[in-house]
Amino acid sequence: MSLVVVGSMAFDAIETPFGKSDKIIGGAATYIAWCASNFCKVNQISVVGGDFPKSELDALAARGVSFEGLQIKENEKSFFWSGKYHLDMNSRDTLVTELNVLANFEPVVPESYQGCEFLMLGNLDPKVQRSVIEQLRTKPKLIVLDTMNFWMDIMMDEVLKTISMVDVLVINDSEARQLSGDNSLVRAAKKILTMGPKYLVIKKGEHGALLFHENEVFFAPALPLEEVFDPTGAGDTFAGGFVAHLAKTNDISFENMKTAIVLGSAMASFCVEKFGTQRLQELKNGDINDRLNQFKQLSNFEIALV
Ligand code: AMP
Repeated sequence: MSLVVVGSMAFDAIETPFGKSDKIIGGAATYIAWCASNFCKVNQISVVGGDFPKSELDALAARGVSFEGLQIKENEKSFFWSGKYHLDMNSRDTLVTELNVLANFEPVVPESYQGCEFLMLGNLDPKVQRSVIEQLRTKPKLIVLDTMNFWMDIMMDEVLKTISMVDVLVINDSEARQLSGDNSLVRAAKKILTMGPKYLVIKKGEHGALLFHENEVFFAPALPLEEVFDPTGAGDTFAGGFVAHLAKTNDISFENMKTAIVLGSAMASFCVEKFGTQRLQELKNGDINDRLNQFKQLSNFEIALV
């Protein structure tokens, strides 16, 4: 099934307690595309400056990613984000956010993307995310949205307006608390499910992810890894795996979303093993299935009821 992905394509600079990267390629939609293109065709909507390496776009295009919806502003600079991780590698501070080309991005949905069945709204200005929904002449079967504290801090009203139009919201635990104003994640989920989305995924970094729908909850662990090198993009990779599995199977049942959560977690576990998108780029035949098997072993148990 066809998947349209919207989000930032960027330069990132990452600091962890163990090392520092130079300016590397990042951006929410970049991670989503690297991940989702393992499973289905990706139609990208984004914007970059003239400084964004063409080789990066070519590498994604070689995996079947369409860039008809990409705007290249030759005389402007790409979005730049810099972050510093704390010792636990689970939390981070944003050091710099330079919107550059994102500041006045007006996406245009190409004719060939019309009729898409799955829409992944990666982290971006909520007005831009909404504009894409509004340009689609037929409502997709499923709209998934990811956002972050940056947008909640500066335009919460716009975030609320946009999330009221989507089916699945994917955010992390601190963003769920910020959005709902409630510290309990279960109560936060209940509140958020009254804001529009029918499904809510709360990512908890190395502590896994929760899926909420009506009165049901599902939990999937994250793979315990000996070394987490760079968690940047893990959330986007997770979202990319989640939506791509649903698009590939064309099944949006709660049961299938559980599998999608596990697949997203497996893909995210690759992402954190190296800086940037490097590990996702190196995936070989069989790697994904091997990791899915590890996930099965991790949480599969039998119990005799007392
Ligand atoms: P994640 O680690 O999954 O939360 O995503 C990190 C990616 O999000 C980085 O590659 C950044 O380039 C991108 N990013 C950070 N801040 C923003 C923002 N305000 N809007 C869009 N993308 C962002």
